[in-house]
Amino acid sequence: MTTPFPEDRFRCLPKAEIHVHLEGSVGAETLLALAADHGVEPPAPDARGVRRWYSFRDFPDFLERYFFVCRLLGRAEDFRRIAYDYLLTAHAQGAVHVEFHISSSYHTQEVGLDWSVVLEGAVAGCEQAERECGISSLLIPDLSPHLGVASGHATLDAVLAQLHPRVVALGMGGPSDAWWEEDFAPAFERARAAGLRAVCHAGEHGPAREVQHAVEKFGAERIQHGIAALDDPRVVELLLRESIPCDVCPGSNVALKAVSDFDSHPLPRMVEAGLTVTLGSDDPPLFHTDLLNEYRIAWEHGGLREEALTTMARASISESFAAEEDRERWLAGFEES
Ligand SMILES: [Zn+2]
Repeated sequence: MTTPFPEDRFRCLPKAEIHVHLEGSVGAETLLALAADHGVEPPAPDARGVRRWYSFRDFPDFLERYFFVCRLLGRAEDFRRIAYDYLLTAHAQGAVHVEFHISSSYHTQEVGLDWSVVLEGAVAGCEQAERECGISSLLIPDLSPHLGVASGHATLDAVLAQLHPRVVALGMGGPSDAWWEEDFAPAFERARAAGLRAVCHAGEHGPAREVQHAVEKFGAERIQHGIAALDDPRVVELLLRESIPCDVCPGSNVALKAVSDFDSHPLPRMVEAGLTVTLGSDDPPLFHTDLLNEYRIAWEHGGLREEALTTMARASISESFAAEEDRERWLAGFEES
């Protein structure tokens, strides 16, 4: 019989969640409240119905739901609400720190929202949650490569024009098709010159060379997903040499069919290869998961046990972009737990 997942033990363990999307973190109750505020008919009349609606057959289906939520976000108050609500959820799971990816190109370039609206709201939600329960949080504006490099620079212009201490890195969403036609590296150079760190989605649905490109061209210090890295020993070698972690989300990978099922997820092989791995929930309500559940999946399907999962929890903190004194304080919690 499989040893049961020690949920309480992992709830108490200090953890950071460094791969989660603000717009994809909107739970059913929050979605209903946003729809009511905006006078928009919700996809279902109650939370149970919304949770059922949060399921999909394929990637286009997923995007339709993701963008339905995005369309409910137009005011600073909306961003405050979703950041605050998610941080309370994460806190209840033992997260001490969250780094939110934000679809900044979507909001500023596709919708034409002023970045200050997004920023002001998200920061207010982060501050409120920190005041109330002490959870730390930072923001990572993501570029959308399919909108093109000019749009990426325009997004960055807006972000850099009002750089806030909570904005810590520039990120990049998928898919990568545009990477090979246009040069996004200068956008990352600009971000770096302004003091931002760099992260990048890569090697999720696409091949290992995405991971290599993200590291070598964009200077990515962390890879979101990176599950394809194992397909190329040179890319594994690169990640090991540069000490670059992969922020892996098995629940997302199976829901979006990047991996066929949990039992064949490469997570245990990534650990075995010596890669630094952290666990995240990506877009938790959409994938019917949460941060603790990702640890449960790793336990139940990946066969990973206490030591490996504790190493991942430690890595989530040490690889986060939180201030060094905060990281040290949280890591000290491992000695006590
Ligand atoms: Zn993601």
